[in-house]
Amino acid sequence: MVEERTYDFRAVEREWQRRWEREGIYAAADDDPRPKYYVLEMLPYPSGDLHVGHAKNYTLGDAIARIHRMCGANVVHPMGWDAFGLPAENAAIQRGTEPEAWTRENIRNMQRQVRLIGTSYDWSRELATCDPEYYRWNQWFFIRLFEQGLAYKREAPVNWCPVDRTVLANEQVENGCCWRCGAAVERRNLAQWFFKITDYVERLLAGLDRLDGWPDRIKAMQRNWIGKSEGVTFAFDVENVDAQIDVFTTRVDTVFGATFVAVAPEHPVVAKIIERMPKSRNRIETFIASIANKSELERTQLMEKTGVPTGAYAVNPLSREKIPIWVTNYVLAEYGTGAVMGVPAHDERDFDFAKKHALPIAQVITTPDGSLRAPLTEAFVDDGKLIASGEYIGMKSANARRAIAARLEAMGRGKITVNYRIRDWLVSRQRYWGTPIPIVYCERDGAVPVPDEQLPVLLPKDVQFTGQGSPLANDESFMHTTCPRCGGPATRDPDTMDTFVDSSWYFVRYLDAHDTAQPVDRRVASAWLPVDQYIGGAEHAVLHLLYARFFYKFMVDSGWIEGDDEPFTRLFNQGTLLYNGEKMSKSRGNVVGIDDTVERYGVDAMRLFLLKAAPPEDTLDWTDDGIIGRVRFVARVWRAAEPLTRAASTVPLDRLPEMRGEAQRELVRALHVALASGLSETETHRFHYNVTTAKLDELVNLLTAALRAPGAEDDPAILYTVHALPIVLAPFAPHLADELWSRMGYERSVHVERWIEPDPAALAVDEITLVVQVNGKVRARIQAAPGIGEDDAFALAVREPTVSAQIDGKQIRKRIFVAGKLLNIVAA
Ligand SMILES: [Zn+2]
Ligand SMILES: [Zn+2]
Repeated sequence: MVEERTYDFRAVEREWQRRWEREGIYAAADDDPRPKYYVLEMLPYPSGDLHVGHAKNYTLGDAIARIHRMCGANVVHPMGWDAFGLPAENAAIQRGTEPEAWTRENIRNMQRQVRLIGTSYDWSRELATCDPEYYRWNQWFFIRLFEQGLAYKREAPVNWCPVDRTVLANEQVENGCCWRCGAAVERRNLAQWFFKITDYVERLLAGLDRLDGWPDRIKAMQRNWIGKSEGVTFAFDVENVDAQIDVFTTRVDTVFGATFVAVAPEHPVVAKIIERMPKSRNRIETFIASIANKSELERTQLMEKTGVPTGAYAVNPLSREKIPIWVTNYVLAEYGTGAVMGVPAHDERDFDFAKKHALPIAQVITTPDGSLRAPLTEAFVDDGKLIASGEYIGMKSANARRAIAARLEAMGRGKITVNYRIRDWLVSRQRYWGTPIPIVYCERDGAVPVPDEQLPVLLPKDVQFTGQGSPLANDESFMHTTCPRCGGPATRDPDTMDTFVDSSWYFVRYLDAHDTAQPVDRRVASAWLPVDQYIGGAEHAVLHLLYARFFYKFMVDSGWIEGDDEPFTRLFNQGTLLYNGEKMSKSRGNVVGIDDTVERYGVDAMRLFLLKAAPPEDTLDWTDDGIIGRVRFVARVWRAAEPLTRAASTVPLDRLPEMRGEAQRELVRALHVALASGLSETETHRFHYNVTTAKLDELVNLLTAALRAPGAEDDPAILYTVHALPIVLAPFAPHLADELWSRMGYERSVHVERWIEPDPAALAVDEITLVVQVNGKVRARIQAAPGIGEDDAFALAVREPTVSAQIDGKQIRKRIFVAGKLLNIVAA
């Protein structure tokens, strides 16, 4: 009997995982008539080992999937591997391993670990982006984009290592030097492929307005990245030089305050000025050489803004004033027109630049009451009233913008334009471990797409990884081919695609992962999509999510998916995980691994801890004490429920049991409170299962107490609660739940059972009203259970906006609690 009562989590968890796998209970059928629910966690990179930070993400998605499944949805919950990328290639260069072998080995290990944590994935849909049966369709879509003019080639700068004669990724450049040989990295222009995401920019913006289920912060970051601004593009003449300089501004109302024009070193006017004024050549070329190797990020954000005067002057088209033209590091040729007007009085960056280089600061906007007057101690960037602006003096900024734009248009010097910060998506990578670009070059026909029936263009095996040059370009047998159009000799494109292409549509391919005839079955894809709930880190706020939205719109346009053109209805960003307050990292040596944790504490305890320790969007601090607490909880459940499993199974769950007294009523209520919490946390998309699991604690405490009363073994309320316990535990502690359930005599897994609808009759209680004060002032009145304790009362109180508004950002000095009446929070 003693053995029976000790819960052997290792054996139980292993056994249930085997059974779930064998019975395929998490496989989703495409033709299931129940309402669909698609829950997705961002596809992981197979770096080698999972740690508990990954488990936090997957446990959350898993709990959501399990609750939806138990509430009657046809849930699809797939998993796969973002398998291409730089680390495999770096490992190949450093350790001589094959990128493919290294990647497959990591995938195998992570497949095992993802199963080990008790997740309910539908493995029949698994994919790895390095599978030819996957990347073949990357190539197929590339060609479709190419045919529509949405994939095109042009020169763009890359990081170049002159010693290794190879292109480096930004992350391979360390302090301006090659990660491998330490040589100073240069900037070089190279012909590269782009996807024309800028054609979709208005739809990408409009779509954001509909995404009510996305965090506002992420939508703001996407809008900012797209960077739409409306303004005027107009031309300055250049004195004594046959050239014009176009500038774009959103603040044409400040045009009379322009005191210089700043141009990019690459701007064509620079060469013309040098030609007219040979004396300035030396100064300009020395400056340009000093910034030639700097990346865009360094130039625009990290370096001090600097420049040199060219000696030439621009003529302001309205004031006819002559202002100096400067070559600067912070204006980029690739953005806008490659030139900007400098208005120090009304732009912070220009103000700093003018101060440093002793350029005039001419105020042309004042506050509406006219009180702000020169000298300015900082840029005045708000709208206001125009001064020192010719015929526009006295106008408000907004009106002046319209009037001046109209004037410039009438003069034939300007036009109203919309500008975007986003640029086309550079997809070429001069690397091996990625999707080969399916284009060949023929002397007669130029760039020719590989015919669909010849796809995939396979990555060659047995490639040399010397770290020098491009591995594919060095591979003669790969490079030489015949032109599909004329049959003459041709060479392949030596580049591979950005791995963000792989992750832009994997969630579509999951739905028909092994289709050999097409990227996805239209009917199947349209039935499952869009993704109902996407879960992942906020670090993907911009690139991945923007690229995936673009790709999806293209797929909708091409008829592959019917319906709305936004792929992710809801997005949830989970918080990160710390270990004793520190970031987990290999270099700190404080990574808490999955294997160890599961072996020592068990999967269910780990899952419960990850869900309970903090709301999912918050940072979670992993502590050994915390997880030991959950190990005890699992044991407590087992001790309380297991001996009664047989008896409990005879008490029906479809109606409330006989409740002999207040203790029974409280017990059954605690059960229904937990059921209601699991449901509402899911339905509201808050996913605060930390609250639900805390309710489970309360429930199990009450159960343990109730079991001490005489006659407990045949008390209907107790037996009913024990019977229902596996159901309410199932999303959070799936193994323990199934073990208890099977001991009740059930053949089917609890994970295919229905959630119990919380019963209002069970939930009804006489509530008390608790007055909440902050610093002695009444801020809220809350309804609470009669016996509520101080901690619970405090937790409820701070959920009231009127209370949290008073204490946010302050320290709680003291709490005064009068049971059943009052909670006073002293905060300062
Ligand atoms: Zn190098
Ligand atoms: Zn040809």
